[in-house]
Amino acid sequence: MTRPIYNFAAGPAMLPAPVLRQAQAELRDWQGRGLSVLEMPFTGEAYGEIERQARADLRRLLKIPQDYRILFMQGGASAQFALVPLNLLGRDGRADYIDTGHWSRKAITEGRHHCRLRVAASGAGQGYDGLPDPDAWRLDPRAGYCHITHNETADGLQFHHIPDTGAVPLVADMTSDLLSRPLDICRFGLVYAAAQKNIGPAGLTLVIVRDHLLRPARPGTPGLFDYRSLADNRGRLNTPPTYAVYLAGLVFRWLLDQGGLAAMAVRNRRQSERLYAAIDASDGYECPVRPADRSQMNHCFRLTDPAREADFLRKAEVCGLLNLGGHPARGGIRASLYNAMPDAGVEALIDYMAAFVDGQV
Ligand SMILES: *Cc1c(COP(=O)(O)O)cnc(C)c1O
Repeated sequence: MTRPIYNFAAGPAMLPAPVLRQAQAELRDWQGRGLSVLEMPFTGEAYGEIERQARADLRRLLKIPQDYRILFMQGGASAQFALVPLNLLGRDGRADYIDTGHWSRKAITEGRHHCRLRVAASGAGQGYDGLPDPDAWRLDPRAGYCHITHNETADGLQFHHIPDTGAVPLVADMTSDLLSRPLDICRFGLVYAAAQKNIGPAGLTLVIVRDHLLRPARPGTPGLFDYRSLADNRGRLNTPPTYAVYLAGLVFRWLLDQGGLAAMAVRNRRQSERLYAAIDASDGYECPVRPADRSQMNHCFRLTDPAREADFLRKAEVCGLLNLGGHPARGGIRASLYNAMPDAGVEALIDYMAAFVDGQV
């Protein structure tokens, strides 16, 4: 018997096996139409069906109300770092940002080019070992929005309560945790997520935005990236990432078959608690993040003897546990447990961690 392989990559990340099998089965002939999704005109009836179904299933999964628009965009989450201020703020718009780690810093650096940006709270002083206490955020009541990074993929932090920003719309980068559990979308003005972490393949970026926030983009914004035009034209300003939309659609279907996001939440929490408990119980490992703010998606930890980390990673690969290295900016170990990770993968990792500390691998 060949040893199973588990992929702990932060992204592009593992996809559910049944989704890959279905994509493989219908790669050359989608539902008896005689052609591949890769070959379909995006204006045609067949692709239209695929996209309509994907939108409907996403709306059902997240219970997205009718006054929110779903945009299928390209450019990744990084493009949204610029497109959010360009689309949501007027000429002299102001925005508050919460600095919680690597990805929020990226959003801040880009955002500064496009708006009057203020960092209303930062975890930098504490080395990003936790989220800044929401009671201490210095929010500007006249800001056009407040931006958070809902899950810090590189640092291993996650919001477990939606912060209250009053009348100021909350904007969230949910690239690495959208669809990992139910979400009260009404608490947000806009949510965006690149697909390649917990949703589907690279090349697709989801933007979910409340209707009344849509206004003409700042003059000079490329027409293709104007949320309002995209919403009015159902994302058909140019060729959408058709195959990525199709694959994400298969993932949405799979999630519904699994029992939706409530079922995912139970599984993700169980796996995450198992792994953190193993880390905390061992003398060989330590997690620098405060327990209350730990991510249920990206588990960042260190060996108490960091000199052994390279050996840990090398032997893990031999054991079929792939891509456990931390983000290049942070180092250490990172185990990403997205929706597609089976319980057996987490157990295999925990067994390996114990065996490594005991010198048995
Ligand atoms: C990966 C990631 C990004 C960057 O996504 P790209 O699609 O590569 O631009 C942004 N934010 C978060 C939270 C991420 O995890």
